[in-house]
Amino acid sequence: SLTGRDLHLSFGDNQVLRGVDIQVDAGTTTTVIGPSGSGKSTLLRVLNRLHEPQSGDILIDGRSVLKDNPDELRRRIGMVFQQFNLFPHMTVADNIALAPRKLRGLSKDEARELALAQLNTVGLVDKADVRPSTLSGGQQQRVAIARALAMAPQIMFFDEATSALDPELVKGVLALMTELSREGMTMVVVTHEMGYARGVSDNVLFMDEGVVVETGTPDQLFEDPESERLRAFLSEVL
Ligand code: ATP
Ligand code: MG
Repeated sequence: SLTGRDLHLSFGDNQVLRGVDIQVDAGTTTTVIGPSGSGKSTLLRVLNRLHEPQSGDILIDGRSVLKDNPDELRRRIGMVFQQFNLFPHMTVADNIALAPRKLRGLSKDEARELALAQLNTVGLVDKADVRPSTLSGGQQQRVAIARALAMAPQIMFFDEATSALDPELVKGVLALMTELSREGMTMVVVTHEMGYARGVSDNVLFMDEGVVVETGTPDQLFEDPESERLRAFLSEVL
């Protein structure tokens, strides 16, 4: 499990996280929804210590990790962003094999085999030896997901993974994310895809202005929102 407890972070006098609590149990999917600028991306970056929280705690399986080397936490968390950030000068397979070779110490052949296995999982094994630029956005995003999975992460973070995609490509990526959820991957998903949040997640966090305004099951938040702020947000996005 991953726990964030009373997390605070400011940029200058902009208080972006103002005491955020999040509990992600192993094997569950938590979606984070909320208006632009509410702190969703910052929360993910604090949870994998790309930004250090100014106060609060981060725990894995109940143990605080803030005194550990941040790289240890980052290796346990796979990240997928809106921008795929694939290396353009490398083949698809080499993109996936790179980190396992460098960070997990796999041989060239082992890393290649792993890359092909991951590509098979995301339905792109026939694209192993092409450059990313020859793929559609949806295919590139599936490669980015395969690349993150190749590090055998304990948890996957997705930040607006489908927001940069053409509408017709969104479905394939959401289907893959749904499959990962169903297979029991532990996931934290920042998304504007309310259908996904509602249908796939175990828990939903609604953030606004750096705080979690409401949290609960999708049914609780979507069917029976308590706060005026969530009701207003839902009426805009649904
Ligand atoms: P969106 O839905 O638009 O992606 P968000 O909920 O992910 O929004 P964040 O990106 O977390 O919002 O930003 C929250 C606030 O933090 C914004 O006011 C933003 O300007 C500020 N912020 C984020 N990152 C930085 C940074 N590196 N330096 C300074 N301010 C930042
Ligand atoms: Mg964001």
